[in-house]
Amino acid sequence: MTKKTAGARGDAVRSRRGRALPANACPACGTTMREKKGPLRLPVNGEEITVPDAGHLACPACKEVVLRLDESRRLRERAIALYREKYHLLSADEIRSLRRRFGLTQGALARLLRLGGNTMSRWESGRNVQTAAMDVLLRLIRDLPGSIEYLRGRAA
Ligand SMILES: [Zn+2]
Repeated sequence: MTKKTAGARGDAVRSRRGRALPANACPACGTTMREKKGPLRLPVNGEEITVPDAGHLACPACKEVVLRLDESRRLRERAIALYREKYHLLSADEIRSLRRRFGLTQGALARLLRLGGNTMSRWESGRNVQTAAMDVLLRLIRDLPGSIEYLRGRAA
């Protein structure tokens, strides 16, 4: 490797640092990325879930895919909703409505179930999914009269 090549490489690095990339430039190759809607996969509980119509930016040159913050949040919420459908778990809305039926705040139901303070909020906003075991417990609370009273009698 000659001294000249090393110098050229150094210049390239300096020019990359000095020049701001346009907002929709591909982080890998600099080509302007395009708005796309298409299938993207995301792992939920270790399983790859395909969201068929996920909004994102795609690079026409190198196929790099970039998600903006809101797209990334929507992709996760969609993947979790599809996961819940696939395994017949209660949806975010179903969990919210069963909690409200008993007049409980998210924190109050979390305490009765010995869960972390933010767990109900994560389930109800679709940012996280309940385990199959917790799903059974939620269904018991919903469908078995007296369950909430039973849990209240054993509250920590
Ligand atoms: Zn690219």
